[in-house]
Amino acid sequence: LKVTVSEIDIPLSYGPAFEGERVRKDDLYCQFGAKEQCTELVKMAEMNEIEDGKVTVVGPDIKDCQEGKAYPLAIFVQVAGREFQPDFEPILERQIHHLTNYIQGVMHIGQRDIAWVRVSKAAVDKGFSLEHIGKVLHAKFHQDFTKIADKVEVTLYTKKEDVDKLTATARDEYKTRDERVEKMTDESVEIYYSCTLCQSFAPNHVCTVSPERTGLCGAYNWMDCKASYEINPTGPNQPIEKGECLDPVLGQWKGVNDFVYKASRGNVTHYNFYSMVHDPMTTCGCCEAIAAMLPMCNGIMTVNRDYMGETPCGMKFTTLAGVMGGGASSPGFVGHSKYNVTQRKFIAGDGGIKRLVWMPKIFKEEIKDRLIKRGEEIGIPNFYDMIADETVGTTEEEVYEFLQKVGHPALEMDPIVG
Ligand code: SF4
Ligand code: ZN
Repeated sequence: LKVTVSEIDIPLSYGPAFEGERVRKDDLYCQFGAKEQCTELVKMAEMNEIEDGKVTVVGPDIKDCQEGKAYPLAIFVQVAGREFQPDFEPILERQIHHLTNYIQGVMHIGQRDIAWVRVSKAAVDKGFSLEHIGKVLHAKFHQDFTKIADKVEVTLYTKKEDVDKLTATARDEYKTRDERVEKMTDESVEIYYSCTLCQSFAPNHVCTVSPERTGLCGAYNWMDCKASYEINPTGPNQPIEKGECLDPVLGQWKGVNDFVYKASRGNVTHYNFYSMVHDPMTTCGCCEAIAAMLPMCNGIMTVNRDYMGETPCGMKFTTLAGVMGGGASSPGFVGHSKYNVTQRKFIAGDGGIKRLVWMPKIFKEEIKDRLIKRGEEIGIPNFYDMIADETVGTTEEEVYEFLQKVGHPALEMDPIVG
């Protein structure tokens, strides 16, 4: 017996029309995330383990929140189904973004452990509760994933200790998912996958996801797109026959260009997978990190969304995202996932990871093990220590001085432009 849910029982208007709606500073009542932790996780459960339609808020809800404040939040969704597989978890999880955005007066940004939910005064006046996010996810997961979701239970945690606990669990899950493409190479497959999930915000934006180039949101890798296509063959993740290779160094294929041209309605004619200098892939607003060129250092920096400080390219993450997050291909900049930094094809066309001269300390520490491993692979075992961070400086001059001191390989490479 399949449960069908056609009505979404919340006191607010709901639908795709509200997806692009912003909650600006003056309209903001309270928010989850921003300077607090906000995490999302979808996990498979056994059929007898969960209760369909059950939504629980553990900890303070909107009515307990103070105007103008930020709070922690963890959205934990358990899904059971005879046809459900763990491979489907990331696909459902990524839907939380637009499904929450469909609620009038509620804005959702980001994904995974960098999610952010902004609640407007108007939504609070109408009686919005966190429970409604759970109701929406329950209803929409049933509607949109009838084939695979038989039961959906949602728990929303707002106490810091619960959020931290779920975040730790979620990070282990993200790691396992990321590593599923670890041993694959772009050469080993003939099919890449498109992702156009973000076109509602960035109409020309098309991610092409290859084994060594995960989606810039960090939430979709090649395996995930493949699973998504299996669930929904007419959905946002379509197989792309990569076709003739037009540039093996920069990473450009005829089949991809043709697809992107059509999917961007003629606005993007071509792009390179492995370059940020020359016609990089388009970037949308949900990238986990943005790389930018540092000409004086003959290298590049990257900054993650959760770092609020200054950077040596002269722009903070928010400024960079504002400039290039609308779906443009911006030479000299590219949005990418955190995981992508240590994938072997990361800006390979511009010289690869050896170009990396600066990144925020928290980002560096987050991917430390993998950076060290990559350093060993490229024959520079102490490469990790050669990457500057904000404790070294946030100007190109300070970074350059440091690079000279440590003998960073970027200084010996061909000019990054020219
Ligand atoms: Fe898909 Fe790219 Fe958006 Fe991620 S950033 S959801 S891969 S279009
Ligand atoms: Zn996006």
